Amino acid sequence: MSMLILHDPACANYEALGHPEKPDRVIHTAAYLQDTFPGWTWRSKFEEVPDETLLLAHTPKHLARLEVENDFDADTRYLPGISRYARSSVAAALLAARHAHDTGRPAFSLMRPPGHHATSNEAMGFCYLNQVAIATLAAMRDFDIRRIAVWDFDAHHGNGTEAILLGREGVLVSSVHQSPGYPGTGLHDLGNVRNWPVPPGSSRDLHMDTLRASLDAIVGFRPELILVSAGFDAYVGDPLTEMTLEAEDFASLGKWLQHTGIPAAAVLEGGYSADLPQLVGEFLGAWSE
Ligand SMILES: [Zn+2]
Repeated sequence: MSMLILHDPACANYEALGHPEKPDRVIHTAAYLQDTFPGWTWRSKFEEVPDETLLLAHTPKHLARLEVENDFDADTRYLPGISRYARSSVAAALLAARHAHDTGRPAFSLMRPPGHHATSNEAMGFCYLNQVAIATLAAMRDFDIRRIAVWDFDAHHGNGTEAILLGREGVLVSSVHQSPGYPGTGLHDLGNVRNWPVPPGSSRDLHMDTLRASLDAIVGFRPELILVSAGFDAYVGDPLTEMTLEAEDFASLGKWLQHTGIPAAAVLEGGYSADLPQLVGEFLGAWSE
């Protein structure tokens, strides 16, 4: 099955020096995917997302704050043009979701910044706009579907996605994350949000069993579309976490997703090791089989 990659190389044009969420993440991953999977389709131009769509998930005050030249927190800097970069990342996620919905084929947004920590009114954890939450709410508005699910396998809890999508009818969020860990939330289920905390240093088996259960919960919900917050920082070699997954485990996640038979789109969240290109390749390669 062909994979659509949404990737505007301009997303590598901002950088906070010394920050782990650095341009090389996407530059190296794009080069690796192009070499390894030459038959895939790439798209690099996206339409600008209207404020009206961003406001499905964020407050007007937040959109205004993104233009103010002050850091958001110690990890989440103000950088020139960051609002434009974040909006472009949202645009790619929206296209990925539309492609999956319209064609039933997989799509992956290879963009930065990531999004799952951004709440309706706060940029945090390297995230400015929550592309998966926006894409979820836009899909409910624009597509004729009644149920949509978010699967978040990033090693950090998608607190922003939880906060934005909590209580939304027809939406299920299922997140597996290291706990204790940043940002410290996601310890318990909450309404339509299933949280699956795994302790630091857990065995691969425990983590993979938990991931399988988290996806089974989604399949049981019978969504018409799955949006995946694909973070690769549960990898054993990741510098920011203490989890133990190996590259081949990300292939299993891709295979499982493919076997659900449910249209799905994924967006890049975290993943900070130098092996990120291979991890993404394992995931996408298995998903597209
Ligand atoms: Zn993460």
